Amino acid sequence: MFTPQDPGVRIMSLFRHAVFETSVAKPINLPPASAAGPEIAFAGRSNAGKSSAINTLAGHTRLAFVSKTPGRTQLINFFRLPSGACMVDLPGYGYAAVPEAVRKQWRGLLEHYLTRRENLVGLVLIMDSRRPLTDLDVQMIHWFVPTGNPIHILLTKADKLSRQEATLTLRQVREAIAVYGGQVTVQLFSSLKKSGIKEAESVIGAWLEEEDETEEDETSGKEKPPAKGERAGGKLP
Ligand code: GDP
Repeated sequence: MFTPQDPGVRIMSLFRHAVFETSVAKPINLPPASAAGPEIAFAGRSNAGKSSAINTLAGHTRLAFVSKTPGRTQLINFFRLPSGACMVDLPGYGYAAVPEAVRKQWRGLLEHYLTRRENLVGLVLIMDSRRPLTDLDVQMIHWFVPTGNPIHILLTKADKLSRQEATLTLRQVREAIAVYGGQVTVQLFSSLKKSGIKEAESVIGAWLEEEDETEEDETSGKEKPPAKGERAGGKLP
């Protein structure tokens, strides 16, 4: 029988009962990393299906609606999970009608958050399965890879592809990210069909499990395995 402490149960219910906590416009307003708990960031081109994916994972039809309300689209939105971890919804990028000044602010906020946030355990990158790996998606990967933390790509709207097209797209993206070793992974996802949820939860759940183990080692005084950033050639400044 499962107990609530079982990793299987924790992973299956990872995103359920998420609650909106706060929105942040400037790096200086980010909650202190030391007190914030582990964070999992969600990023993607605007309209790729990020809000729908967050809602689907959370089993909540309007959770990420908050990030769609006027004035909030350029903010980082935090949703607290029952485990104490946070889902962090980053502003969508690539929206053509955005003035240059706003684009610059977006860039600064995202780059700062992705490259320097100490309690960030991984990045979920949402891409429309019909247009994966655009230049800005690749930019996000390049910002994040030096941290040594994992990236998991959700190829959303997979329901819009035939089975054959979906298999081909998955294979092409896998080939393109092979250069990052196992640090970047990919799967198909559909919010409409509710497919790919278990796979996403098990990948992201494993990041949090690994984080728990590292923390336990630190508190028990055991010799620490190399920090994630060290594996990839040193922490960022
Ligand atoms: P965001 O801007 O990245 O947050 O994108 P949204 O989640 O708002 O989705 C943009 C559009 O794509 C909306 O019209 C959604 O209904 C649609 N959409 C999102 N996910 C899916 C999906 O898995 N399948 C289909 N068919 N449409 C989707």
